[in-house]
Amino acid sequence: MESQPTTRVGTEFPHLLEPLDLGFTTLRNRVVMSSMHIGLEDKVSDIDKLAVFFGERSKGGAALSITGGYAPTRRGWLKPLAGQMTNARMAHRHRAITGAVHEHGGKIALQVLHAGRYSYHPFSLSASDSKSPITPFKAKAMRARTVDRTVDAFARSAVLAREAGYDGVEIMGSEGYLINQFLAPRVNRRTDQWGGSAANRRRFATEIVRRTRAAVGDDFIVIYRISALDLVEDGQTFEEIAALAQEVEAAGATMLNTGIGWHEARVPTIVTSVPRAAFAENTAMLRESVGIPIAASNRINMPADAERLLADGKADLISMARPFLADPEWVNKAAAGHAEQINTCIACNQACLDHTFRNRRATCLVNPRGAYETELTIEPAAQRRRVAVVGAGPAGLACATTLAERGHEVVLHDAAESIGGQFNLAKRIPGKEEFSETLRYFDDLLDRRGVARLMGATVTAAELLAGEFDAIVLATGVNPRTPPIDGVDHPMVIGYADVLGGTPVGERVAVIGAGGIGFDVCEFLTTEGSPTLDLPEWRREWGVGDPAERGGLGEPQAAPSPRTVHLLQRKTSKPGAGLGKTSGWVHRAALAAKKVDMLAGVQYERIDDDGLHITVGEESRTLAVDNVVICAGQTPRRELQEELVAAGAEVHLIGGADVAAELDAKRAIRQGTELAAAL
Ligand code: FAD
Ligand code: NAP
Ligand code: SF4
Repeated sequence: MESQPTTRVGTEFPHLLEPLDLGFTTLRNRVVMSSMHIGLEDKVSDIDKLAVFFGERSKGGAALSITGGYAPTRRGWLKPLAGQMTNARMAHRHRAITGAVHEHGGKIALQVLHAGRYSYHPFSLSASDSKSPITPFKAKAMRARTVDRTVDAFARSAVLAREAGYDGVEIMGSEGYLINQFLAPRVNRRTDQWGGSAANRRRFATEIVRRTRAAVGDDFIVIYRISALDLVEDGQTFEEIAALAQEVEAAGATMLNTGIGWHEARVPTIVTSVPRAAFAENTAMLRESVGIPIAASNRINMPADAERLLADGKADLISMARPFLADPEWVNKAAAGHAEQINTCIACNQACLDHTFRNRRATCLVNPRGAYETELTIEPAAQRRRVAVVGAGPAGLACATTLAERGHEVVLHDAAESIGGQFNLAKRIPGKEEFSETLRYFDDLLDRRGVARLMGATVTAAELLAGEFDAIVLATGVNPRTPPIDGVDHPMVIGYADVLGGTPVGERVAVIGAGGIGFDVCEFLTTEGSPTLDLPEWRREWGVGDPAERGGLGEPQAAPSPRTVHLLQRKTSKPGAGLGKTSGWVHRAALAAKKVDMLAGVQYERIDDDGLHITVGEESRTLAVDNVVICAGQTPRRELQEELVAAGAEVHLIGGADVAAELDAKRAIRQGTELAAAL
């Protein structure tokens, strides 16, 4: 039985919270949890975890959730043994998922996805013989008979979804998957009825919608995920996309969801440096062409932005995926007028898409319980303890707030006046503005959970011992490493923290260390303002062009760097190879556009008034620079530990204070949360 909708019209976000009447059913508000593959779709044994995952999001207010993609045929698998919806036994197991969602008043649709040439196996099929630049296998062209059967397979999956209790299906027609491959001349070079003219290329998509509608009846949601902008050469034109939208509507789609860019596109579409709602205009243009509701997507993560898009008539619904990994209660918090309590998705991709593309279960950097709801549980403490947490960086913040959630008395110390640790440096990088949202979230949460703060003073072991704590958590972070280079104490040498703190830097710079921080510092030094906060500038930088042109691509024109920058590492591997799987290419391309000179295999000889002397291979060079910036990693900061342990205190180390190597906020927050869940 459905519980009452949580919608409250007349609040701060009236458009967002307004129900949507679809004729045969009503969505309780305008928020769709879009499809994301979290890695629990493929094994039947994970279905109960998936049910809890979706149940929490329905309880949190999502009107309509869409599952990760399920293949309609084996050849359409994303990878061997990937999730598929092809038989009644599978449909029966999915009842656990649909039941969990319906229990809390939400609705759920199954996404049907045929990967086409994005399939990660040697038997992949596509519109024509072709290989994508992001998969190792060459797909074979489907025979006409196979195309026809594949259309039927989509409809069959929809019928099974209905039997499983789903309220609808989403037909995945974007992101460069099979349907998108049929739609664009980039892949479709057929000369039969499924290719050739634009109308023939659209036939596969419209037939799928038509036969699906015929198979499931009138009272079932059929969403078509339309690629509103392909962002690849030989992609579709806007005229073709609008014609498709109209045909899909006529074929029986209930609503459209927007997809932007193929996976192989060289324009970023969802990473944190993409401006918020960067592609909403493309949805707005399509909305003019159709009468059915359409959802806007991509880099929408907070209710105020979502509300504005709806109020301005740019879309009828808002579709978000990652923000629901970050906060299952996103909608309820907005409805209650407490947007400030939302744990905002910062679009880092580090724990979600980077995991998915490495065949690991997705989770969330800011919410380690995301997709681990049944495994990382936060229970009330059996006994209330008095705990000191030293360090208000990501690790300490996660630990302190989780300890307090469990009922412990918590005192949080930091030498700085404000919380955040290194996140206060990260948020100053152009394109990382979202990181300040995490600090806003924790700032509010500390107060709501009653964590006492002692800020602005470096705490000593003696003070901690005098505080009579039952346990002390050291989340004291790291000390930047000073590499043993001759002349490293020269006045031209600066640490990354000073650079980001505002120390003036000359026009010619060498950056030592090409890890995440080295790359970030280069972006800081080569960018004036932030294109992330200036949509037209960002579109120019990445070459997002006129949608009337094929693929909507233009010529990238990054603003010139105000400095000449060399980025150096000792390793011989490609600089930036260790950056995020789904975001590293963006950082590398951004610095290449700024003409940053990236050098690998560097040996540092000395620093003197002439600059930085290096050897690369056999060649000795002097980089005549005004400043050398050190970004050479860190070591744990834990000077308090020895004295505390010697005095018999119970001491725990988390985050950088525990292990500095390969430290990131994902590990810091998870470790802080896990420790707090266990103390
Ligand atoms: P920290 O954040 O270093 O916090 C430690 C805190 O302890 C500090 O606030 C310090 O003042 C306090 N402290 C230390 N000793 C004492 C004492 N005795 N008394 C009181 N207070 C004390 N990570 C990512 O995952 N993704 C990114 O994109 C990313 N970008 C980054 C960009 C930059 C420019 C930088 C510098 C870092 C970035 N990081 C990123 C790394 C991330 O910020 C760190 O991994 C994370 O902050 C480590 O958290 P922590 O809590 O262990 O330590
Ligand atoms: P890092 O990624 O470990 O990189 C340190 C760099 O310093 C490496 O390029 C290393 O390269 C160099 N180095 C190490 N020891 C050196 C020495 N003795 N002399 C000269 N060079 C030396 O660390 P980081 O850049 O400081 O970043 C810290 C953490 O923050 C990282 O683990 C990262 O995950 C996280 N972070 C993530 C992002 C992101 O976008 N995901 C962004 C920023 C930071 P060589 O040894 O080859 O010279
Ligand atoms: Fe968002 Fe990062 Fe969490 Fe992914 S890992 S959901 S991008 S905050």
